[in-house]
Amino acid sequence: MFIKTHLAITVFAILLFVNHVSSKLLFIIVALAATFLPDIDTAFSTLGKFKGFRFLQFFIRHRGLFHSFSFCIFVSILFAMFVPSIAFAFFLAYSLHLVADSFTIEGIKPFWPYNKTSSGKIRTGGKIETGIFVFFLLFDIFMIIFYIVLLLFDNLYLINIFFSCV
Ligand SMILES: [Zn+2]
Repeated sequence: MFIKTHLAITVFAILLFVNHVSSKLLFIIVALAATFLPDIDTAFSTLGKFKGFRFLQFFIRHRGLFHSFSFCIFVSILFAMFVPSIAFAFFLAYSLHLVADSFTIEGIKPFWPYNKTSSGKIRTGGKIETGIFVFFLLFDIFMIIFYIVLLLFDNLYLINIFFSCV
């Protein structure tokens, strides 16, 4: 899937959870970074002709380690043990990326190195993916407007309290 579709889905998840976490900025930054992370294997593919990346090609060709829940869960547990403040954001965004990719024709190997592939009917860049992107984008915009309205009302409420005290 395109990164814009992954980002639209992650922004939706961020908007759902951001009010329930203590450090909001950290949550947003880690979630966005974790959305990009699984696709570093495909980014390297353009560099595949360089000998230095031969080792990484192993993962690239097979859409392996980076697109697996084995990796996602392992890193999430490490974060939960050593940097708990970012564990949830990482797991949420990374696993949503994997779930979305598992519906593509290419699919993923969720329990890498176990070889079984989980795949679906969505073609990367096809009509269904465009539909998913537009759906989440509209939802994101709707929720952002909703939050702005809530903030405005909160401020009005505070302003009213202020004037009633004066
Ligand atoms: Zn991906």
